[in-house]
Amino acid sequence: MMKNPYIHGCPYKCQILFSQFSIIFPIGFLTVFNIYKILIYNVLMSYINISTAYINNIKLKNIKYICNYLFDVGFMAGDFDPHQIEGKDKDLDGIIRPQDLQGFTGQDKIISNLRIFVQAAKLRGESLDHVLFHGPPGLGKTTLAHIIANELGVNMKVTSGPILDKPGDLAGLLTSLEEGDVLFIDEIHRLSPVVEEYLYSAMEDFVIDIMIDKGPGARSVRISLNPFTLVGATTRSGLLTSPLRARFGIKCALEYYDTPNLVNIVKRSSSILKVDISDEAAYEVALRSRGTPRIANSLLRRVRDFAQVIGSGDIDIKIARYALDALNIDKRGLDSIDNKILKTIITKFKGGPVGANTIATAVGEDQGTLEEVYEPFLIKEGFIIRTPRGREVTELAYRHLGLEMGESGENLLF
Ligand code: ADP
Repeated sequence: MMKNPYIHGCPYKCQILFSQFSIIFPIGFLTVFNIYKILIYNVLMSYINISTAYINNIKLKNIKYICNYLFDVGFMAGDFDPHQIEGKDKDLDGIIRPQDLQGFTGQDKIISNLRIFVQAAKLRGESLDHVLFHGPPGLGKTTLAHIIANELGVNMKVTSGPILDKPGDLAGLLTSLEEGDVLFIDEIHRLSPVVEEYLYSAMEDFVIDIMIDKGPGARSVRISLNPFTLVGATTRSGLLTSPLRARFGIKCALEYYDTPNLVNIVKRSSSILKVDISDEAAYEVALRSRGTPRIANSLLRRVRDFAQVIGSGDIDIKIARYALDALNIDKRGLDSIDNKILKTIITKFKGGPVGANTIATAVGEDQGTLEEVYEPFLIKEGFIIRTPRGREVTELAYRHLGLEMGESGENLLF
């Protein structure tokens, strides 16, 4: 079939001309006129927006990528970063993450101890003792692992328990570590027993015994490793075996953050994201963050969306409350699943006691998620208690849902 010379009403050759023009023109434009960076970017973007209206077969996004590339490779070197305009949450997370002990808010005791241990290891010229971080998700375990590597001035390799399923994978990682490097294993409680066995000698004596061949010809070869620091993170320290736990010289239990610390985290993140937030709004976001920096940052990003789309771009208390309500985060920081758990225990199990497994099935969540993510905060805030016979809601939970203690809660909406 003959190629249609007209696509969407624009001659084909004319489109090619336009597409070449829209790439060549910015380069010439940038090299000839050294005008103020942001102004150039904005003018360029408007130009591209107009030209792409005619070039129907070239996506605006692709042209923007070309421009972003031009900025990246040095046409626009300096403080202006176009990625921040179109950055995704994942990228923002990397930007927001504190890089050193100084920038880390809260967990004061852990931070002051780590400062001493890192300093001492550096003074002695030794690798830092192995470190175990445990606590609920989002409290800063991964961040602290990065910080330790940064403070020690060494490289860090990252892996996680479920990924390391073969001893060969572990051996490969361990032998690639240089002296003093950090190996970070997230979800270390999910290591397979055989990999864990291999880890023991690596942690204790910096050697690893590898089996070569099978059957009668099988023999073990000992490989020496560079001294390294293993940083393990777990949300379920109870599931760690005692031999593994005993091999960590430094164990840190991360606690939920109090509101003043979360306010500081929210303000720090908003200044990095270059969005103005009032003290009152920062307090409101902090209050509803379940004591967790990851949630505080994620709420901040969503509130920023509301502020930019239906507000002035700045976050004040009005827009913060509006956005948080729209996100179903209530005044105590409980989200829809938290409230569903409380309502389920009250309406279906007369307030408890009821087993975690039964609650998980009733609310349609995985038992592990219920125990790791939701329950610790509900217990910490005093909404439920753990008894030998199961979980029970407290009077506070009834009051929170607008009920009298012992009421059946049959009018509650799910
Ligand atoms: P975990 O490994 O415990 O699940 P992360 O270290 O991944 O948690 O932290 C989650 C997010 O919260 C990261 O984006 C990090 O920037 C932020 N964060 C955690 N702790 C702090 C803190 N103390 N100060 C500032 N931001 C923090």
